[in-house]
Amino acid sequence: MFCAPKCVLVTGVMEETMARIVAKFGGTSVADLDRIRAVAERVKREYDAGHQIAVVVSAMAGVTNDLVALTREAHALHDAREYDVVVSTGEQVTAGLLAICLQEKGVPARSWLGWQIPIRTSDAHARARIEGIEIEEMERRFSDGQVCVLAGFQGIGPDNRITTLGRGGSDTTAVALAAALKADRCDIYTDVDGVYTSDPRIVTRARKLSKVTYEEMLEMASLGAKVLQTRSVELAMNHRVPVQVLSSFDEAVGSERPGTLVVDEEDIVEHEIVSGVTYSRDEAKITLVQVSDRPGVAAAIFGPLADANVNVDMIVQNVSEDGTSTDMTFTVTRGDLDRAIEMLNARKDELGFTALVPDADVVKVSVVGVGMRSHAGVAQRMFSALAERGINIQVISTSEIKISVLIAEEFTELALRALHTAYGLDAA
Ligand code: ASP
Ligand code: MG
Repeated sequence: MFCAPKCVLVTGVMEETMARIVAKFGGTSVADLDRIRAVAERVKREYDAGHQIAVVVSAMAGVTNDLVALTREAHALHDAREYDVVVSTGEQVTAGLLAICLQEKGVPARSWLGWQIPIRTSDAHARARIEGIEIEEMERRFSDGQVCVLAGFQGIGPDNRITTLGRGGSDTTAVALAAALKADRCDIYTDVDGVYTSDPRIVTRARKLSKVTYEEMLEMASLGAKVLQTRSVELAMNHRVPVQVLSSFDEAVGSERPGTLVVDEEDIVEHEIVSGVTYSRDEAKITLVQVSDRPGVAAAIFGPLADANVNVDMIVQNVSEDGTSTDMTFTVTRGDLDRAIEMLNARKDELGFTALVPDADVVKVSVVGVGMRSHAGVAQRMFSALAERGINIQVISTSEIKISVLIAEEFTELALRALHTAYGLDAA
């Protein structure tokens, strides 16, 4: 269903002949009618330049949150199918409004809902995955010179009911559409002008990255840098969709591409060892004291958590001096903490721990970079930088291109700045 893009990357600049573009505008970019008119103006410029363009829109800023709140108010344990019926409506409004604003500017435009394309998804309501996009009608509209405006975040399940793709899902709509249409570019317009080396609100010397690899972006997205939905980066990587993150509040368009390009590793000539320092506050730590040290204990602890859909992230185990018991420490998301505690306490006798110590005042700080694969001493630099500031590391985990540490939340800012400096990322 998805095919490789036909885009050409020439020294990092997209060739600007007649291109096929998917442009996605997030909630803040369509927050009110003035913003929607500004989006229409931008789309018109691309259209006038002779490009084929499909636009994917989010709901107006805040609307999805309000709709989610309404479904909860109606009933705390609401039916996921009906949740999807309600929360998918935000995008319908913006798609229609943008089509009207485009028409008003003389651009032939037509709005489309997920089921009309159709965008076929799995039946996992509220977090459905796109399984296929039928593009025939869109192709016809393109050849008639029409602009297609598509409601993001929604599709149609196997039972013909409306589905949504999980919060932030219109990024995934855009990337999947770009893959299906073999678009030359997928431009993701948001309220920041690209992907930064760290959170600029905390690290004032953070720099915008002109390029970042799919893999790095994937790590950063799942670590909490909320620029792109994680699933959309996965899709972009698998289908080699050239994604660009840029600001709709920025006036520069056309050949001057001011955003961050998400690209293949081969397309980046000079790698920093570390490309970004990120953090996630959505962490909680649980320590089980003096668990008996025998085969099957880890399975007995983590099995039931997995069955209850509690995602365990970092894990450390310390064997005691006498070798008969062990302390088991691990992290879960804050939202899952209470459920995890309850579940473990219910199995206290079976697991044989003497105490359960929860701690929600922790943060996970990570450094990410494909350059780590070919450099030694990257972790050491992180540990030294934190040690010099007297920051204690509670848990460590690593992957090929990432090192994460769990520290006390009060040190978040200090740690981010120290690491940003230690890896030479500070803006001049
Ligand atoms: N409107 C949806 C949300 O807020 C989807 C999106 O904006 O990507 O999650
Ligand atoms: Mg978003």
